[in-house]
Amino acid sequence: MVDWAEDIGLANKILEDIGTDLAESDKTRAKGTHVSQLIYCLTRSYYDQTSPLPLNPQEAMLFSTGIGLETVLLRPRMKAPSGEKDGIHCPVDGLNIEGPVPLVEFKSTRLSASKGPEELPKTWVKQIMAYMYATEQREATLAVLHLMGSYHPPFPVLKCWRMTATDKEVWDNWQWLLDRKRILEAHLVRQEAPKQFKWNEPWECTTGPCKYLLLCQANQSIEDIRAKS
Ligand code: SF4
Repeated sequence: MVDWAEDIGLANKILEDIGTDLAESDKTRAKGTHVSQLIYCLTRSYYDQTSPLPLNPQEAMLFSTGIGLETVLLRPRMKAPSGEKDGIHCPVDGLNIEGPVPLVEFKSTRLSASKGPEELPKTWVKQIMAYMYATEQREATLAVLHLMGSYHPPFPVLKCWRMTATDKEVWDNWQWLLDRKRILEAHLVRQEAPKQFKWNEPWECTTGPCKYLLLCQANQSIEDIRAKS
């Protein structure tokens, strides 16, 4: 029998290096406001721009899984344009120039493949509609890699959904994004973080968990104490 000993230190070091690499590649991406910074938690976007913390090991794992799979499954087959509208960068995952629906967004998830598109995160829909606005498309393909399939058995499954939106839906979504851009920029000018737990989906705090969770909890506690005194 061979002997085994778990090397937790090495695993943590690998994740730490991935987190550092991702943080470095973040610095080289286009300056300015990105769609994802507006769709997801504005408090996090503020801290990322003013006093960023490195990704924690759980976040490094989640991010690298998504980026790695996207690189293997999409990039070789697609053009990956990056446009800008109204000062918002729109790094579209891929334009499938040979397909009937050019705009493609790729996601990987631990959600079960048995879930229909209406059960997938609303943030994905918002992101795709933003890309629709930027690329003047009203149709898109959402390619979802369910890492655990439907859990019976837990084996990866790729599903593609065709999505169509109206002009009004795309326009309203863009106006919502512009509102959030104004809110974030106003806080940056005032050098004051957007209030914690107000500008995010609840799962954003606990998935990972978010690297700023302790800071947000501390700020919330201070506010609660002040409100009582
Ligand atoms: S802990 Fe929650 S509220 Fe705070 S930055 Fe993270 S996602 Fe936003």
